[in-house]
Amino acid sequence: MIWPEGGERRLREIVESRANLIFDAEGVLCSDIDSPEAAPGAAELLAELRSMGKRTFVLTNVTRKSRAEVIEALDALGLGFRPEEVMTAGYLAALYVKSRKPGARCFAISEGGLIEDLISLGLRPVSNRPVDFVVIGSNRKLSYWELNFAMELAIEGVEVVCAGASPIFRGEFMGRRGVFMGEEAFAEAIRHVVGCGITYVGKPHRLIFELAFGQWGVGAGDSAMVGDGLRSDVGGARAVGMPAILITKGEEFRFEELPKEWVPDVAVGSLAEMLEGLRSARS
Ligand SMILES: [Mg+2]
Repeated sequence: MIWPEGGERRLREIVESRANLIFDAEGVLCSDIDSPEAAPGAAELLAELRSMGKRTFVLTNVTRKSRAEVIEALDALGLGFRPEEVMTAGYLAALYVKSRKPGARCFAISEGGLIEDLISLGLRPVSNRPVDFVVIGSNRKLSYWELNFAMELAIEGVEVVCAGASPIFRGEFMGRRGVFMGEEAFAEAIRHVVGCGITYVGKPHRLIFELAFGQWGVGAGDSAMVGDGLRSDVGGARAVGMPAILITKGEEFRFEELPKEWVPDVAVGSLAEMLEGLRSARS
């Protein structure tokens, strides 16, 4: 099921006119990154795009796993990405902090992955003052004291960076599969009580796209986004001026009732359907 009617032509136009296709990871290429399974048609679609001379990339809001772990997980699924083609919110947040202050002392709210990303770029995770940056990622074992210390630092004027911008996400943790509160909820709690600004390095905010584009040497004008998030992927693509292909996973949307910035150029049920749509438009 492709939207709008006759969307195959628009799909083909987008793919043919753009050199780079940027994929969201969770819910698009794989189930979730905690216990990933490849999405049906993912490997075939990527192979087809590469055979058309397209470059393929991954941009995910994930921070609970490090970029190295995400690269490894995608590799195990046989999706054929080179390490430099895969960027995560955790890694790009660390890159942002490094650009502001190499070797910075960071108080991180993290389940582990974000800490690894900080260390990989020479930053120093600390739990005591002095602290140069508060860096917030998702953390399913967050304690009151961690959140409170982050708040105290924000009151003192320490810049708060949120790696990722998910209010909620699906995954598996300690044997429990379900939905979990995301990093944006923690960052907004701090903003609510302190009234400080938050530097978001996560979709849909522009900064994460600019950082990723810089790493890849591409721009919004020659790229398109493929994602399953109305706000994060479609909204993010719109914010930087890229076309957006939504993967609906069979969910029905009333696009005419959505805010304009969440309406994709094309919506398809799955990556397999996107491949089918591309092939039918070409034949
Ligand atoms: Mg997703």
